[in-house]
Amino acid sequence: MNFIPYGRQDITKEDVNAVVEVLESDFLTQGPKVPEFENSIKEHCNAKYALAMNSATSALHVACLALGVGQDDIVWTTPITFVASANCALYCGATVDFVDIDPQTYNLSAQALKEKLQIAKVEGTLPKVVIPVHLCGQPCDMESIYELSKKYGFSIIEDASHAIGGKYKNQPIGNCQYSDITIFSFHPVKIITTAEGGVATTNSQELAQKMELLRSHGITRDSDLMTHEPDGSWYYQQVMLGFNYRMTEMQAALGVSQIKRLNIITDKRHQLAKKYDSLLADLPVITPYQHSDGYSGLHLYVIRLKTDQIQKSHKEVFDALRAANIGVNLHYIPVHLQPYYQQNLAFKVGDFPEAELYYSQAISLPMYPDLSVDEQQYVVQMLRDILI
Ligand SMILES: *Cc1c(COP(=O)(O)O)cnc(C)c1O
Repeated sequence: MNFIPYGRQDITKEDVNAVVEVLESDFLTQGPKVPEFENSIKEHCNAKYALAMNSATSALHVACLALGVGQDDIVWTTPITFVASANCALYCGATVDFVDIDPQTYNLSAQALKEKLQIAKVEGTLPKVVIPVHLCGQPCDMESIYELSKKYGFSIIEDASHAIGGKYKNQPIGNCQYSDITIFSFHPVKIITTAEGGVATTNSQELAQKMELLRSHGITRDSDLMTHEPDGSWYYQQVMLGFNYRMTEMQAALGVSQIKRLNIITDKRHQLAKKYDSLLADLPVITPYQHSDGYSGLHLYVIRLKTDQIQKSHKEVFDALRAANIGVNLHYIPVHLQPYYQQNLAFKVGDFPEAELYYSQAISLPMYPDLSVDEQQYVVQMLRDILI
């Protein structure tokens, strides 16, 4: 069997043509394709504004700044995420804390959040922003998190890097019904891709305007945003300190072409998950629990080993799958256990026990639209041979 990666982009002839067309056009950046991609995201998500950037990491940074995150602030997220969900707060000079995960969905636990908020209120350490992450594409308990945000006065950024195409209570993720801003990633391992790229959606004109300025040097050509009348038609003003976080036209064209297949891709992922569910049914593993409130984007298919029912260690199973040419992965190493976080923010082993237990058992199986049934059967057969 050839190497089977855990995730892989799906590129068609139409995608290739869309990018080539841009290369032969007048604009490689700051042309019509970025707004076109933003419009297709807005339409899909039913959000008022969408801002494309060069990565989800950039979008998270700009989202934090737009919400006013600064030096004396605290941002909370889940330990089971990619480091970018936490690093964005550190970029703003803020500090980071974590909320342990729900043992069934592996998402930030709304119950743990509630308990931590009660303590933080007494101690005067309430967060400015909470960043729930829709792990594997499964939406978090947004209604509960939103209610808590009203009670305790924090803002919400949904990190939906895994979750485009998914739904929460029958509404598209990204509509920001229960948050201020939602972030998507279009890295090649994600659901659809722009090679590198991210988008922030919001329904707030003020937040959209700030993010638009911040992604491009804090510069505006809109006279309404200037401190005085333009000096002339050449004139632009820098009204805040921004960055160059712009997406290119080639990236946006790829995104426009990819998003047309989003429903097909999401359906395919659900078919693959169903197949895995049945193939794995009699093995000592926990297959992904799906809460009835959500329809997952199914970016990842994570199993948990019932380590008390098998003879091998988690690491041995992982290594044996890799040795069988299966590119299994682990999403994620708890962020608070990264040396940078332990050394600079004084986190330690034992701080978030559910997240750490998950980390000792989780394995991401290959999951991408082109994965064949034969390959799925091979993956599960190898797992069976290793476990039993
Ligand atoms: C991939 C990912 C990011 C970062 O996305 P980039 O587009 O690569 O910057 C952030 N958060 C989560 C949960 C991710 O999976």
